[in-house]
Amino acid sequence: MKLSTLFLVLTVIWTIGCSAANSTIEKVIVNKLDQDIVIKRGEVVKVELPAPDTALDFELSCNGQNIIYHKKEGLIVGYISESYFSNMTPYTCEYIFSKEVLGENNIYKVANIVVEDRQFQSETLKVDPKTITLSKKNLERVTKEFEITSKIYSNSSKQPLFDKPFTMPLSSKITSPFGSQRVYNNEKKSQHLGIDFRATSGVPIPASNSGKVVLAQDLFYTGKTVIIDHGLNIFSTYAHMSKLNVKKDDLVLRKKIIGYSGATGRSTGPHLHWGVKINNNYIDGVSLVKTTSN
Ligand SMILES: [Zn+2]
Repeated sequence: MKLSTLFLVLTVIWTIGCSAANSTIEKVIVNKLDQDIVIKRGEVVKVELPAPDTALDFELSCNGQNIIYHKKEGLIVGYISESYFSNMTPYTCEYIFSKEVLGENNIYKVANIVVEDRQFQSETLKVDPKTITLSKKNLERVTKEFEITSKIYSNSSKQPLFDKPFTMPLSSKITSPFGSQRVYNNEKKSQHLGIDFRATSGVPIPASNSGKVVLAQDLFYTGKTVIIDHGLNIFSTYAHMSKLNVKKDDLVLRKKIIGYSGATGRSTGPHLHWGVKINNNYIDGVSLVKTTSN
């Protein structure tokens, strides 16, 4: 084949490719929501957005963060979370299509997100000083455990592993709500990014929803701990237990007993600490129960 013929063939292929892409552009219709979605700092909201009129793949991006979504009854369903440390700047969610297919018109805004503030209470606690000023050995342990949990939180199932609303693990009194500003032993300040439920030692602890056990072991701060991946970057944590009833990689159903309450790790006494992490933000589990019940 002569070089000029090859050039002609390549030009024809390129032109056909471009016209195919152009005809796809016309088929993409995305309806924008006509109302703002409101989220409070330290909370989660389920978003149900109109699905685009196309079979093309796209990413759901909110505030520059890729949100894992699934399709349900013609809607795009995802969970957006707002950090406890949010500066409460409003932002948008977009569908981002491949630039190679759609060219410059590949981003469609679908929602405006408004962030509201909320107040949190303060509390003081007395704990073992060894858990405030760490020895070299304990610091090494904490660092290693942080690496283990970070890896877990970056590997959620792309499909939801649940199809019912989340439930509170216990119905007993909440002794420390999410977001309390804490002072430990009059020296160390931190935030309580979970919920503490009153429980004597040995109370059976149910999973707040179905999912896969991705951690079941003793950790320095949270003691005997279970972490469940529910898919879509939603994780729940059950801490300070006296005994575990599941192991890593177990698939658990909603309300399955995963362990028994206790006072292991950094704890002031027997209770259940329940944590929820969504898209790498610790959030108030009460908001997850509410938003999945609607
Ligand atoms: Zn707690």
